[in-house]
Amino acid sequence: MPKQHDDCLFCSIAREGAYVHKAKGFVAINDINPKAPVHVLVIPERHVDTFREVGDFDARESKRMLEFVAETAEKVGLRDYRVLVNVGPSAGQTVFHLHWHILGGGPDSGADVPSTVATAEVEL
Ligand code: AMP
Ligand code: ZN
Repeated sequence: MPKQHDDCLFCSIAREGAYVHKAKGFVAINDINPKAPVHVLVIPERHVDTFREVGDFDARESKRMLEFVAETAEKVGLRDYRVLVNVGPSAGQTVFHLHWHILGGGPDSGADVPSTVATAEVEL
């Protein structure tokens, strides 16, 4: 298991969450407060505070992380979707462990929207 922070919410979730997808080094979970019909977070097990430190991942891990984002979107049934990273508080980052938002489930997404995230707040 890569280096983790004891007091970090997403380090804990990476250890023992309810995953929608998992692979070596990465997990994906449903966002607790979905902003779209499907709103999934991709979380690397390796703790870095923000995307600014993405250089801490080696080339292979970075490639795997991007592939895992795409695999996760496919796994949750999305063909069309948006990928987003908030970097820093004034950009909306609230959890300081790098994570990728996958947002989708709009009319052309091809998604079979799971009932657990059917209460959309924002239409894509
Ligand atoms: P950000 O604002 O970009 O840092 O994204 C943090 C996201 O984590 C928000 O969309 C929250 O709704 C989500 N979140 C916070 N706590 C949890 C949790 N325990 N499980 C799942 N998602 C969470
Ligand atoms: Zn962490």
